[in-house]
Amino acid sequence: MGREKPNKPRRQRSPAEIAAAYASAYRCSDCHAVTTVSAVEGRTAVLDTVHEPGCPALDGVTDMWPDTLAAIGRVAS
Ligand SMILES: [Zn+2]
Repeated sequence: MGREKPNKPRRQRSPAEIAAAYASAYRCSDCHAVTTVSAVEGRTAVLDTVHEPGCPALDGVTDMWPDTLAAIGRVAS
């Protein structure tokens, strides 16, 4: 994401752009997960994160929320 420029309003991003940015920003703390956007319709997007086999996030051993919130933070900044 670019540097915030003073006095310049940020361009409104489309839901598709936001979904793509989130997919790119998501990083699993335990594996090299890949997130894809399979559909964007209106303001709804379908995102699918595929973790590597054996990733503890798959079994709920680790909490995915910190990685999710970190990705949202990267998209929002
Ligand atoms: Zn993972």
